[in-house]
Amino acid sequence: MPVTVCTDLLQAGGYWRGFGYFEELALRMDAVGATTIDEFVLRAYGDAGSTDLAAARLHNTDQYVERLAADPRYHAESHRKGPRKIGRLLKFFDCVTCNKCIPVCPNDANFSVRMPSTPQVPVTKARQIVNFADFCNDCGNCDVFCLEDGGPYILKPRLFVSRERWLRDAPRDAVLIEPDAISGRFDGQVVRVVTGEACGDDPRALALCSLRDALLDPGEANYVSEFLRCEAAG
Ligand code: SF4
Ligand code: SF4
Repeated sequence: MPVTVCTDLLQAGGYWRGFGYFEELALRMDAVGATTIDEFVLRAYGDAGSTDLAAARLHNTDQYVERLAADPRYHAESHRKGPRKIGRLLKFFDCVTCNKCIPVCPNDANFSVRMPSTPQVPVTKARQIVNFADFCNDCGNCDVFCLEDGGPYILKPRLFVSRERWLRDAPRDAVLIEPDAISGRFDGQVVRVVTGEACGDDPRALALCSLRDALLDPGEANYVSEFLRCEAAG
C-alpha cells in the first residue's frame, strides 16, 4: 500500500492534520540546526557538510524507504481488513448517522442539519447528513468510511447555491437553493418549490421543503444559510 501525505490527509481531521507535519518538521529542523528546507535536506540524516542537494535527496529517500520497510505498521498484513459496512444502501434522508463522513472529508463538504420529523416527511434521526457539492471533488473518501453503501457524496442531498454549477452538474441528482426557490433534480426530473408557496403533495417537493427549513433554521449556521444571508445583505 503506498503511503503518502495524501493518504494521511484523507484520515479524520483532513488538512488540519497538516499542522502536525509542520510542528514535526520544525522540531526536526531545530534538532539539526537547519533554518531552510535545503539545509534540512542536507543535514536530515547526519550528512552535514555535503552541498550536493540532489545527492542528499536521493540518499535521504533511501534512508526513508529503509525505515518504512522495516516498520510493521506499513506492511500489507497490517491492512488486510476492509472498512466495515452494514450492507444497506444510503437514502436521501436518514442513515446510521455515525458522522464519520464529516471529519474524513478533506474539503469539509459534508455537514449535518437538525431536521424534525413531520407526518409529511417522517425521519428517524434528529440530524441529517448533507453534502455541499460546491466543495466536493468526488474523491470518494467519505464512501470509504461510511458504514452504508452508495457514498454520501452521491446519495445524500447534494447542495448547490449556484444555478450555473447546478445545471453543469446534470444529470446527477442535486438540489439548488436560491433565495426565491428550492429546486431538486431527481432522476433527471426537476421539482421546484417557490419560497412562500405551499409545498404541495409531491413527496419530492415535501422533502425539498423540509430540507430548506432545516438548512435555513435560524438556529443553524451552515454554508447555505450563510451564503443566502450574504446575498440578501448585498
Ligand atoms: S467525495 Fe466529496 S464529500 Fe466525500 S470526502 Fe471527497 S470531497 Fe468530501
Ligand atoms: S452518510 Fe454514512 S458516514 Fe455519513 S453519517 Fe451516514 S452512515 Fe455515517
